[in-house]
Amino acid sequence: ESPEATVRGQRDERLEEVLRPSTLEAFVGQPRIKERLAVLVEAAQRRQEPLPHLLFSGPPGLGKTTLAHILAKEMGANLRLTSGPTLERAADLAGLLSGLEPGDILFVDEIHRLSRAVEEYLYPAMEDFRIDIVIDQGPAARSVCLSLPHFSLFGATTRAGMLTAPLRGRFGLVNRVEYYGAEDLVRVVRRSSRILGVETVESGAWEIARRSRGTPRLANNLIRWVRDYAAVRAAGEEISESVVHHALEMLDIDADGLDEMDKKLLETIIYKFEGGPVGLGTLAVAVGEDAGTIEEVHEPYLILEGFLQRTPQGRVATRRAYEKLGLSAERGKND
Ligand code: ADP
Repeated sequence: ESPEATVRGQRDERLEEVLRPSTLEAFVGQPRIKERLAVLVEAAQRRQEPLPHLLFSGPPGLGKTTLAHILAKEMGANLRLTSGPTLERAADLAGLLSGLEPGDILFVDEIHRLSRAVEEYLYPAMEDFRIDIVIDQGPAARSVCLSLPHFSLFGATTRAGMLTAPLRGRFGLVNRVEYYGAEDLVRVVRRSSRILGVETVESGAWEIARRSRGTPRLANNLIRWVRDYAAVRAAGEEISESVVHHALEMLDIDADGLDEMDKKLLETIIYKFEGGPVGLGTLAVAVGEDAGTIEEVHEPYLILEGFLQRTPQGRVATRRAYEKLGLSAERGKND
């Protein structure tokens, strides 16, 4: 496994398990979402009812799955995990739904990728807790209505905009998780360091936080890499700013947290398309990356940090992007 593969926002299930906060108190940041969820949990507990169906949206690695685990624990409910692309046929969903127990939480990751047929099959299940299933085969086949126990459906999506209105409308609440600010990321770094048993000095924690693209999962991956680097190259030393600096330099993650693909996107827009506007599809071909990944993973952060703008005509590099590449700001004709 290359260090790049380790840190690039990739998932390491084991590490995530260990570092995943298990209570709302331990979940760093996102105060508005936490407050709301705390109210929902208390109300549901008092009424002894399951939670309403909840949608979690936002870029990957910001805690959507973690929140689902926390809510399940608070409710003492089972959490069943599945994802949009896995549920190929309505029968796959029927199998899952008919196995649910009262109060269970069904978590559907990438819910925007459900097929139309499966999505429509989900509507009556969410609304009236019933589904139609086909029993028997051949001429004897017939459809019967099966009532389901009251359960909660949690949907997670990196692209809330791609959800159909009928599906979106069936969720009681939409929780948009946001990129984390540096202070919250420092808290994530400190917490994870403690759990992993690494001594991180304050300035080292900030250095990691700054380069984590607002993303706890990435912060955790960076800590693990820095820990490995420190063990091998800086034996015995605590994790200082300079240790972090050297460790991250080896990964080509720069001081703004941009990785190679981020930089390649900016370079391509500026050098190949004269700063833009350039359409997403064209850009995807030019950099050799999937358009969905660009839109869900790279763009939101580049936009947040002011390197990129999305216009009706396409993507445009900002003055900050030109400066980033060491080009004169005057060339930023699009500001
Ligand atoms: P998502 O489902 O949005 O892709 P996850 O919930 O899987 O993201 O989060 C990835 C990892 O990041 C988790 O295992 C957890 O360790 C860490 N993490 C995410 N959000 C937080 C948070 N608010 N506080 C502390 N750790 C977090």
